[in-house]
Amino acid sequence: MCITKKISIIVPIYNEAGNILNLYSRLEGVLTTMPQFKWEYIFINDGSIDSSFEVLKTLADCDEKVKALDFSRNFGKEIALTAGAHEALNSDAVICIDGDLQHPPELIPILVNRWEEGAEIVVTIRTEIEKQPFFRRFGSYVYYWLMRKISGINLKAKTTDFRLYDKKVIQVFAKTTERERMFRGIMDWMGFRRSYVNFKAEARVNGQPAYSYGKLWRLAVNSLTSFSLWPLRLAGYLGVSISLISGILFLWMLANYVVMKVWIYTPLAMVVVVNTFLIGVVLMALGLVALYVGVIHTEVINRPLYIFRDRINC
Ligand code: UDP
Ligand code: MG
Repeated sequence: MCITKKISIIVPIYNEAGNILNLYSRLEGVLTTMPQFKWEYIFINDGSIDSSFEVLKTLADCDEKVKALDFSRNFGKEIALTAGAHEALNSDAVICIDGDLQHPPELIPILVNRWEEGAEIVVTIRTEIEKQPFFRRFGSYVYYWLMRKISGINLKAKTTDFRLYDKKVIQVFAKTTERERMFRGIMDWMGFRRSYVNFKAEARVNGQPAYSYGKLWRLAVNSLTSFSLWPLRLAGYLGVSISLISGILFLWMLANYVVMKVWIYTPLAMVVVVNTFLIGVVLMALGLVALYVGVIHTEVINRPLYIFRDRINC
C-alpha cells in the first residue's frame, strides 16, 4: 500500500501519568484501522510534576512514532499546543487532542474523513458534558457571548481544542507571533474552510482538571485583549466597583425622592455621589488602557515562547 499522507497527533500533557497509556492504547486501536496514513504522536510534557514524562519516555522507547517533548516548566496548554504545531510543520494534517481522555479518539476517522472531503479545519463541538459544575457552564456561556460581542471573531460556543488542522493552517499559524495566546482563538481568526462534528464529552478519567477557574479566567481575559500589567488592571477593577456602588447609591437617592416626594439629601451629597461615580468611570478607562499597554509590554519583551529540556525521537 502506498502511504502518502502524514498526520500528527498532538497531545498536551500536564500531570496525566495515569491517563497516557490508556489514551495511547485507545489511539492505537483507532489508528491501526487507518493504515493508509503515516501517523506520528507528539506529546508535549508541560512541566508535569508527576511521572508523566517518565511514562512518555517509556512509550517513546517502545514506539518510534512517539515524539516526546519536555518543557522546562509549565507554560500552559496553549503554548504546549503551539510547540506541538511548530513541531508538525511537515505533516499534512495535525490533530490536537487532550490527554485526559475527554476527547474520544474514536472520532478521529470522522475528522480525517471531513478533511479528505475538503475541510481545512475540522472542529469538534461537545454537545453534553457530564459532571460539569453549573458555574463552569455559565462562565463558558458568558465568555462566548462576550467574545462574539467584543471581538470580531465568530467563536462558536462549545467547540473544543479537539480539532484537525490542515497543513496550510499550521503553516500560517507558525507565522503568528503573539505570546499571550489562545490557540483556538488564533485558529478561528484565521478563517479557512471549516466543518463541525458533534460529540458527547466524557468525564475526566484520572486526576483533576488542571484548568482551575483561575486559569480559565486568565485564558478568557487573555483572549479578549492580552496583557500583563496587573496593577493598572486593578485600577480598572476598582473603577468598576466604585462606579457600581455610587451608581446604586444614586439610584437609591432618586428612589427615595420618588417614593417620599421630599428631597432628604443635601445637594452636596448628590454632587459627591455623582462625582464618585465619574471617578469610577475614569479608573475604568485606565484599566482599559492597561489592557492594551499590557499587550505591547509582553510583545516587546520578546522572550522565547517555550523552552525544551529534552526531546525524544525528534
Ligand atoms: N494541560 C497542559 N498544561 C496546563 C494545563 C493543562 O498541557 O497547564 C493539558 C492537560 O494535560 C490536558 C489538556 O491540557 O491534556 C486539557 O486540560 P484540562 O483537562 O485540565 O482542561 P479542560 O478539560 O478543563 O479544558
Ligand atoms: Mg479535560
